[in-house]
Amino acid sequence: MLAGKWFVNCCYSYAHDCRATKVIASLSSTPAPGESVKCLGIPRSVHNSPSEPTECCRTRDSNRDDKFTEKMATDNLTAVLHGIEDLRLEQRPIPEIASDEVLLAMDSVGICGSDVHYLTAGRIGDFVLTKPMIIGHEAAGVVAKVGKSVKHLAEGDRVAIEPGVPCRYCDHCKRGKYNLCADMVFCATPPYDGNLTRFYKHAADFCFKLPDHVSMEEGALLEPLSVGVHACRRAEVGLGSKVLILGAGPIGLVTLLAAQALGASEILITDLVQQRLDVAKELGATHTLLLDRNQSAEDIVKKVHCTMSGAPDKAVDCCGAESSARLAIFATRSGGVVVIVGMGAPEIKLPLINALSREVDIRGVFRYCNDYSAALALVASGKVNVKRLVTHHFDITETAKAFETSRYGHGGAIKVMIHVQPRDANNPVKF
Ligand code: NAD
Ligand code: ZN
Repeated sequence: MLAGKWFVNCCYSYAHDCRATKVIASLSSTPAPGESVKCLGIPRSVHNSPSEPTECCRTRDSNRDDKFTEKMATDNLTAVLHGIEDLRLEQRPIPEIASDEVLLAMDSVGICGSDVHYLTAGRIGDFVLTKPMIIGHEAAGVVAKVGKSVKHLAEGDRVAIEPGVPCRYCDHCKRGKYNLCADMVFCATPPYDGNLTRFYKHAADFCFKLPDHVSMEEGALLEPLSVGVHACRRAEVGLGSKVLILGAGPIGLVTLLAAQALGASEILITDLVQQRLDVAKELGATHTLLLDRNQSAEDIVKKVHCTMSGAPDKAVDCCGAESSARLAIFATRSGGVVVIVGMGAPEIKLPLINALSREVDIRGVFRYCNDYSAALALVASGKVNVKRLVTHHFDITETAKAFETSRYGHGGAIKVMIHVQPRDANNPVKF
């Protein structure tokens, strides 16, 4: 037990160094007092730039816990958005946890379009960056400390983090639609901090323990996957559904995966970019359709209906363009459902009379709600494979480069993953 605890503590304090972790893990007993353990990775005190591996040593002694705390307290490298085009790596204090929280040693954090949007525009709709904010919300980490009243998690547990914690008291929360809670505290949505940081605290009941065979990266991807699951549930995708998905970015692709898992028999996905459609095809889309901006909605609807066996029952807009939301309505069969996930301009022109006279329901999607456990079950069971979405990997010290890659789609970027700890350091089964 002592050995286990030592390993856990060391692993978190020196989370940068998988090799050190492996050295420690391979020891048959804990290091003796005075025995040193080599840390071969990036020193935790290095900021901003990737550095060559260097050596540092530490010694186990009788007051080691104090030393760990002391060490931890000096290093919490964090990506903080100070304003438009002003993302910095800086040290932040390690948070103190409340009794119902856990302290997490962060492992993997995916970059989402919204993170990039806050960087480039400083706002999304009414959420405006008015003070520095830690970025990142698609994340997974390892439990480093457990609050007194937390029963279901223990130190060392690998968890996916559902990033929005609602008030739990309002009418929406009580009815189970907690994504609509007005007092939601959501990572990296102003004014609340996100979790691209070495140590982060979170409500324990919004942490989902990962089975050993599910990687930390897949844990982080449960966030976008939950959006796809929620969108498909809102659309009531089921056995034999014919689904049109507009947009083959990360959200369109996870919606495709969720729709497949829910039993859709036919899925057509559109995009303006062939490379994104190629990925959709690889992931099992029945049909792909490359659009160009000059085509009329009428022509596209005809193509959709000819390509699919008739009109789709469900359409999910995953790009946020006005033309796309309009197309979703025109293309859907009478009595079908259109779900709007994409967030574009605050006001757009829609063919409402067409929708109402054909009883096409138009439904919104706001993040997710009670979807994380389903998303995890889909990944853990192998029903859904999200790994293909990850195209790029960066260390936290390379955050600027990671954002640039995601922002400009360099190298066919779909999902860019930032590693706060070395890749696979916490994956019993490699990613
Ligand atoms: P993304 O920009 O990476 O992907 C959008 C894709 O749509 C791109 O591949 C683009 O080429 C394609 N596209 C653009 N215009 C199109 C058109 N007219 N027809 C077909 N394809 C078109 O974005 P993403 O991360 O996949 O997110 C998609 C949308 O979902 C964004 O608007 C985002 O803000 C929104 N979103 C909403 C929620 C929510 O809770 N409602 C959650 C997450 C993301
Ligand atoms: Zn609430």
